[in-house]
Amino acid sequence: MADRVSAVFVLTVVGVAILAFALWMIFGPEPVLVFAMAAAVSVLIVACPCALGLATPISITTAAGRGAQAGVLIKDAEALERMAGVDTLIVDKTGTLTMGKPKLTDMVALADITEAELLSLAAALERGSEHPLAEAIVEGAEAAGAARQEAAEFAAVTGKGVRGQIGGRAVVLGNAAMMKDLGLDTGVAEDRADTLRTEGKTAMFIAVDGALAGIVAVADPIKESTAQAIKELHALGLRVIMATGDNDRTAQAVAGKLGIDEVRAGVLPEAKKYLIDQLRREGHKIAMAGDGVNDAPALAAADVGIAMGTGADVAMESAGITLLGGDLMGIVRARKLARATLRNIKQNLFFAFAYNALGVPIAAGLLYPLSGLLLSPMIAAAAMSLSSVSVITNALRLRRVEL
Ligand SMILES: [Mg+2]
Repeated sequence: MADRVSAVFVLTVVGVAILAFALWMIFGPEPVLVFAMAAAVSVLIVACPCALGLATPISITTAAGRGAQAGVLIKDAEALERMAGVDTLIVDKTGTLTMGKPKLTDMVALADITEAELLSLAAALERGSEHPLAEAIVEGAEAAGAARQEAAEFAAVTGKGVRGQIGGRAVVLGNAAMMKDLGLDTGVAEDRADTLRTEGKTAMFIAVDGALAGIVAVADPIKESTAQAIKELHALGLRVIMATGDNDRTAQAVAGKLGIDEVRAGVLPEAKKYLIDQLRREGHKIAMAGDGVNDAPALAAADVGIAMGTGADVAMESAGITLLGGDLMGIVRARKLARATLRNIKQNLFFAFAYNALGVPIAAGLLYPLSGLLLSPMIAAAAMSLSSVSVITNALRLRRVEL
């Protein structure tokens, strides 16, 4: 808007100054040249568009400072302006809505064995494994203070599980296929395992000395702030779509808990970008939030890219806004900040134009024939400065905006 106005502004003002000069030369009182000069110079001074030039950048700079205090880092100033007009938010799941790191969630004892003992056995086996889920079990056992045991004759069966000897007992941990290989029927525990799966968890079975002994479940927990953030984003009028490479079951479980409007599961990284392109063609304004290397193309394709500060460097490089600590409430804050900034810019433009609209005709001498009022160039200079001061004072109010 400032750009459009300034394109005609200079020509108009110079035109008015010349016209005022000419009219004062023809119709003005003696000494004509002094009056004509004063009027033309006053017009040029009072119309000096520094307030217009300040109106947008000073608001954005102030807002960027306010955002940084609230954990919202704005790299691309225009992203902040565009954020105010966004109607759809696409979010990645793993690492964005969730912690991105699996954690031990459930331990179910099926036989005559304590959960603590099961946990101790599971951790002893998984210490030898490099699987990311194994790490979750080992950490979970340590956090629960389970007794540390050592496994011998450790063996991993790709895609199925692990087994070993612990304190003279044969222990196996794995999926249903692993149990089937042992000749064990998991049917009795399937209901329990299924419940865990619909909660978005990965369930595995443990067998001790050839008998089914328990179920261990691992899940990527949802970040603490996510649910509240989604609720507030809805209240701010945004549609939230989850796009994830993960399977439909886990995706639906997470989306259901959070009240997400739409789920696209099993999508490849290119498909996230394609989804954004398609929605943009339909006239939507899209913000994309993600954390991974594979989110980078989508972050760059969206109107506003929002990266998690806990994610990959390339994601932050491709995004206009980065959320410190990966806190989803940052999106809510960015949206509020963007709206406050846009409002502030409009107020600034009003201040910048109001002084000119009032000052220029008076400076040109329009009131002189009626009341003898003429703006001295000194008063014109004061008025011009006052408009800049008003704009700066107004922009600084953004430092205290509630986010
Ligand atoms: Mg991710």
